[in-house]
Amino acid sequence: MKAAVYQGRGGVALLERPRPVPGPDELLVRVQAASICGTDTKIIRGGHFRVGPDETRVLGHELAGDIVETGANIRGWRVGQRVSVVPNIGCGHCDMCRRGLNNMCPDYDAFGINIDGGFQQYMIVTAAALAGGNLIGIPDGMSYEDASLVEPLSCCFNAWKDLAVTPEDRVLILGTGPIAGLFLMLARAYGARQVIVVGRRAERLEEIAPLGATDTVDSSRADVVDEVLRLTGGHGADVALTCAPAPELQQQAMACLARLGRMNFFSGLTKGSRVEIDTNKVHYWGLKLLGSTGSSVQDYARALRLVETGQVQVGRVVTHRFGMAEAEAAFAHALSGQGMKTVIFPQEERLS
Ligand SMILES: [Zn+2]
Ligand SMILES: [Zn+2]
Repeated sequence: MKAAVYQGRGGVALLERPRPVPGPDELLVRVQAASICGTDTKIIRGGHFRVGPDETRVLGHELAGDIVETGANIRGWRVGQRVSVVPNIGCGHCDMCRRGLNNMCPDYDAFGINIDGGFQQYMIVTAAALAGGNLIGIPDGMSYEDASLVEPLSCCFNAWKDLAVTPEDRVLILGTGPIAGLFLMLARAYGARQVIVVGRRAERLEEIAPLGATDTVDSSRADVVDEVLRLTGGHGADVALTCAPAPELQQQAMACLARLGRMNFFSGLTKGSRVEIDTNKVHYWGLKLLGSTGSSVQDYARALRLVETGQVQVGRVVTHRFGMAEAEAAFAHALSGQGMKTVIFPQEERLS
């Protein structure tokens, strides 16, 4: 089979590898769609603390496929079933895991990080993943591409659920990547009265606005805080989400918040970054400053239903599709920062 293998500083190479054989408590998935995430490009650029300098890894944690082989002890899954995975597998017994928060487990394993993920034609689903409920059956009518995008949506949903958005809210989204696009669609699905998207490139704003923005702010031309206040009639944003790894976006978002405003620092910053906070504004205006990372199995199951019912059309963030023979080109494309989401279809030879 073919596998796109991350080789540390050597980048990603398309290699021929033996098809993996599942153990008695494992099963084998034929990967049909795997989308490239900012985490993948970040690893290719700068490595990851869970991937040793001499290790190789098949990246890819946003994927869907069908079961082709089950180990002797597997119950409840059968060959032919269409599936996707929740990538973060908790240890199963820590305080976080006991609360069902596999994404918060300090001792997690993850597909595409420290176990081989989706950028290959066949992938082992480990016993721990099966025990953790990390394998998810997908509905008949859902495309593999949509199913692969449930994962990033589930991370957005994890952030979104604590922001308690109502139709009275004005939502501010800073960034124009696929995550920003998913938040725009969530804002629309939840009936927000106004949704403002901020970006620094006019063509990206034009591309993303149709996903649900009522207003756009080009930060290369206008002062973000002034413009958001103007667009909201002086009120400010009730809810803000930062969707790009830039400290100034976090400060702009906080400055734009209205009384009782809520925000989520969704994009992480480079290690060691610090941002100044006006804690008097947090105190007197009753702000809620939140963070979140990854998604639990429950977040994932809920995001899946938002996609199944068409309330969030995840496929709208996909701008480029590649076959397996073009995997290296797909990563080069994603690394170039062009377009929104890039998806690899490991069973196809070429698509672009
Ligand atoms: Zn991801
Ligand atoms: Zn745990």
